[in-house]
Amino acid sequence: KGTMRLDKMLGHSGYGTRREIKELCRSGVVRVADCVVKDSSAKIDPQQDVVTVRGERVLYEEFSYVMLYKPAGILSATTDRMARTVLDLLPQEFSGAGLFPVGRLDKDTTGLLLLTNNGDWAHRITAPKKHVNKVYKATVSGTIPADVDARFQSSLVLDDGLVCLPARAVPSGAQELTITVQEGKFHQVKRMCAAVGLTVEALERLSIGALVLDPSLTPGQWRRLTEREKEAVF
Ligand code: URA
Repeated sequence: KGTMRLDKMLGHSGYGTRREIKELCRSGVVRVADCVVKDSSAKIDPQQDVVTVRGERVLYEEFSYVMLYKPAGILSATTDRMARTVLDLLPQEFSGAGLFPVGRLDKDTTGLLLLTNNGDWAHRITAPKKHVNKVYKATVSGTIPADVDARFQSSLVLDDGLVCLPARAVPSGAQELTITVQEGKFHQVKRMCAAVGLTVEALERLSIGALVLDPSLTPGQWRRLTEREKEAVF
């Protein structure tokens, strides 16, 4: 009563491409419930069957959830012909899992980026109607207006006429603002700052909902979310 192809489970768990997994099975090192299985298209139950490769247990997770400290200079896309993407920063074990970034950060923006292969979960975070707060630290040039927070709170209008949902912009340093937005439109924070006469020189995302960038991570590092964090975002 298998429910999934063996090669799909192994691919999902980082054992290579479908062709590589076919060879792996042919070579006789893959066992399901202690029996060698040479046919990579065999149907298995990934939750019930004990699958091993060279004696090592293959752990199957239907969904993966990762937080990455995105460094500057990396695209938050899944593939790009020329540039490096955030997926290039994750290890082989995720290569077949179909992870994608939950919302995007600009190439020069750093900080908290979530990746998952659970589309429903991602949608619950990015859907504008859900009003999940995103907090950014913006280093700006220009004179920060005394009423900057009031202006962010009262529906800023951007250059293209877009009316923003109420946001916050609290000065947190001489040229620094801590900005909270509910939306994630293209260049949202940079354009909101431009609307009050400021240029964003550096932008870092600190949190999404209750989920905070782990202070022990350095740019380029990642870790899996805890069970608690998976639920805390909303
Ligand atoms: N707002 C921006 O302008 N850029 C980002 O990367 C994220 C939010």
